[in-house]
Amino acid sequence: MTDAVPGVNEVRDRALAALRRVGATVPSGSGLTARTPITGDELFDLAATSADEADRAIGEAAEAFLGWRNTPAPVRGELVRRLGDLLRGNKEALAELVTVEAGKIRSEALGEVQEMIDVCDFAVGLARQLYGRTIASERPGHRLAETWHPLGVVGVISAFNFPVAVWAWNTAVALVCGDTVVWKPSELTPLVSLACAHLLDRAAQEVGAPREVHRLLLGDRAIGEKLVDDPRVSLISATGSTRMGRAIGPRVAARFGRSLLELGGNNATIVAPSADLELALPGIVFAAAGTAGQRCTTLRRLIVHRDIADEVVERLTAAYRKLPIGNPFTEDTLVGPLISTAAAESMRRALAQSAAEGGKVLAGGGRRLTAEAPKAAYAEPAIVRMPEQTAVVREETFAPILYVLTYDEFDQAIALNNAVPQGLSSSAFTRDQQEAERFLAADGSDCGIANINIGTSGAEIGGAFGGEKETGGGRESGSDAWRSYMRRATTTINYSSRLTLAQNVSFL
Ligand code: NAD
Repeated sequence: MTDAVPGVNEVRDRALAALRRVGATVPSGSGLTARTPITGDELFDLAATSADEADRAIGEAAEAFLGWRNTPAPVRGELVRRLGDLLRGNKEALAELVTVEAGKIRSEALGEVQEMIDVCDFAVGLARQLYGRTIASERPGHRLAETWHPLGVVGVISAFNFPVAVWAWNTAVALVCGDTVVWKPSELTPLVSLACAHLLDRAAQEVGAPREVHRLLLGDRAIGEKLVDDPRVSLISATGSTRMGRAIGPRVAARFGRSLLELGGNNATIVAPSADLELALPGIVFAAAGTAGQRCTTLRRLIVHRDIADEVVERLTAAYRKLPIGNPFTEDTLVGPLISTAAAESMRRALAQSAAEGGKVLAGGGRRLTAEAPKAAYAEPAIVRMPEQTAVVREETFAPILYVLTYDEFDQAIALNNAVPQGLSSSAFTRDQQEAERFLAADGSDCGIANINIGTSGAEIGGAFGGEKETGGGRESGSDAWRSYMRRATTTINYSSRLTLAQNVSFL
């Protein structure tokens, strides 16, 4: 089941109309090209940020921080409240741009914008809850306290697959924390980035905040490196591949900057014999094939109990055969394009390697719409049964490939879940409470996200998001992730008339 893709002119017109509705303009010039994975074509050339402009933008954000840090947090929250209102009012147009540049189907593109709105709401509440603590002092007449202060300039580097939600997670929280933000979005998604930056400009103007509380840098990794190496940037919050994290982590550390890394995942779901398959099967299909397998939390490894493996695989392959693949603008499409033909090529290579390692393709793996859109990459999500967790299974291939492995004992399933270099998301479908608790225990899943009876993808903004090991260890969005965007001061106040030393030390 496929659906014809629109022509490049239609996609370009839709992009221009959406930009017009938001009120954003595209800086004319060269250095960067907006593209669409829907047809694989170029849409417009636009001006990339030069090294000098980046330097100036970082300087402006650093200057603006000096005033912003002293603006009361609830007043800072007003800026984020207004941004949230503007995002609500422009939800359709922003989602349209997400579809144009990232190829997401409509409901997922709308969901991404909703995530921005949700995190703005969260951050507005947070603006009145940046709590410190009072700690019992061991000395009489002393008070020990902890206060959280704004940190500085936050450099946000984001990936193509969540082109704007990740920006909002960082920016909404950083702004209420009193930081200023310089954003380097993916070079693959400049248009929706311009639209969001424009709305934040407008919000700042409307509430009387300085425009320089945020700056946008458009360009590729070279402009990202300017942020990474600049000592005026206190925190680098970078989302993308593990390769990117490996490159920038040591550079930020070398200048004693802070980094918050959100890198690749290789997520697994365990399906136990007691699982409710009516929950598990749709959960697995959404997590594995949704967003064309291009989420950091995409399900890539299915670890099924041997007794039910054949039934699960049979029902999954039947569901995969019916997946509507094609034009992401069409209401009933569930699988849109991959970001590029290079992504399709990496999928092809991974499938070839899995075959060499003993795998058997049970569904998908081919390309669609190659005649209608030869420059685009519409892939059929694949299911591959593997004899064991081989090298290709332990890698993240950013495409819709679901490797199926079997287990006999639940501990063996947990061991398989953990035996990969990445540690982002994981889940188990089971109605056995002991198994569920085992999965969530200290010696259970080693991931930052561990779910029961739900898939690996589609996190809510209220929780802290991120993962362990090669996923980078960072946490963003909800819970107490805000602390990464602030600096802590520990304070001892002596209100007695004696100088008492800690640990009963005597001196003089
Ligand atoms: P990518 O690593 O190619 O690029 C991500 C961003 O980093 C881009 O803005 C890019 O320009 C920039 N960049 C790359 N190398 C850089 C360098 N050396 N210095 C400075 N900036 C650099 O990733 P992508 O293809 O856009 O996104 C897909 C990857 O992102 C997948 O691995 C996916 O799992 C991961 N991802 C992780 C999360 C998470 O929260 N853990 C979320 C979304 C995506």
